[in-house]
Amino acid sequence: MTYRLHRAQSVQALVHAMIVKAGWTEAEARETAHHLVLANLSGHDSHGVGMLPLYFQSLLDGNLSPSSQPLARNTLAPFLIVDAHVALGQPAARQAVEQACTMAQAGGVAILNLLDAHHIGRIGHYAEVAAEAGLLSMFWVNVAGRPPIVAPFAAKEARFGTNPHAIGIPVPESDPIILDFATSRMAHGKARVALNKGEPVPEGYIIDGEGRPTTEPRHVFQHGIHGDERLGALLPFGDHKGAGLSLIAELLSAGLMGAARIDQKPQKSWIINSLFAVLIDPARLEPDAAQRKQRIESYLAFVRAAAPQDPANPVLAPGDKERAMRLARGRDGIPLDDETWSQIAAAARRYGIDAEAF
Ligand code: NAD
Repeated sequence: MTYRLHRAQSVQALVHAMIVKAGWTEAEARETAHHLVLANLSGHDSHGVGMLPLYFQSLLDGNLSPSSQPLARNTLAPFLIVDAHVALGQPAARQAVEQACTMAQAGGVAILNLLDAHHIGRIGHYAEVAAEAGLLSMFWVNVAGRPPIVAPFAAKEARFGTNPHAIGIPVPESDPIILDFATSRMAHGKARVALNKGEPVPEGYIIDGEGRPTTEPRHVFQHGIHGDERLGALLPFGDHKGAGLSLIAELLSAGLMGAARIDQKPQKSWIINSLFAVLIDPARLEPDAAQRKQRIESYLAFVRAAAPQDPANPVLAPGDKERAMRLARGRDGIPLDDETWSQIAAAARRYGIDAEAF
């Protein structure tokens, strides 16, 4: 499968135009286009503009609507509970996280539960928003509205979503630490990218519908299985540890409050995310910013100084890889494989937009 390099600004302009043409506001389009393109720039193509065809399919099927808007159910600090009503996820989540940031800056802490948003994208994005506001943040997110795709530890069939977890630690006057990952060993979107590229996935990441190890990404997509084959599953990262974290994310984000759970609700062409977050003002723990900076940076220096197994693969802190990728892709362009591009171009055509013109 071949790919082309696209300038981030051009792709962002295209995505923005598509979202506005589909009926969302300029502000909603700006945030969503910015979020998706930043995910590509960060190296997470699984959560970049390749998601757009799915969003537009949801719209076409009547499962996603520009008129859906989030509504706060509780704003009494330190709790912020927002019903997202399956609104477009990126603007809904950003707005909720920004509101929680304001709450945490005022009172030292905020506990946010955003319920039933459409796909909110890369969770580290919100840890970055919180870090920019000077806040520590922790996120647990579930994935519902579609069939389970991750097997519990020791199971040969799926019961979880890829339930991501992210933590952000701001470093005064420097780049934040951003840990952000799916609790499956591989994000489902990364299997989609491999499928679109016609490439195998590494060994140990997925099983087929009979629970056998496989490297063929088609086994984890309904449209990829043939005849009476059953859908396979992604494996959790870290065996029982990742599986346990996934279970906790489901219950914290959606399970306690009755939001869409992976084992509930009709399954349509959509992805529903609920998010549970804790935001903390670090100045309430250590008021001296210079001390905080020195303590964090001296520890990061200690970790980064560990002798690498392979000098070509240096020891990194969480967030380093995404920052390096942003520089490289900002300079060289974002690689989009032909299949992903043709899906985006087809969605654009339905709104009278020529993707090649951007
Ligand atoms: P991943 O496996 O690439 O891990 C990324 C994390 O590991 C980052 O914090 C990164 O800085 C760190 N990292 C990567 N390489 C490193 C290295 N060599 N040394 C030290 N740290 C390193 O991420 P993933 O599991 O593929 O998830 C990709 C994205 O998918 C995430 O942004 C996640 O939030 C998102 N996601 C979203 C949903 C959803 O439904 N919205 C579901 C699942 C995943």
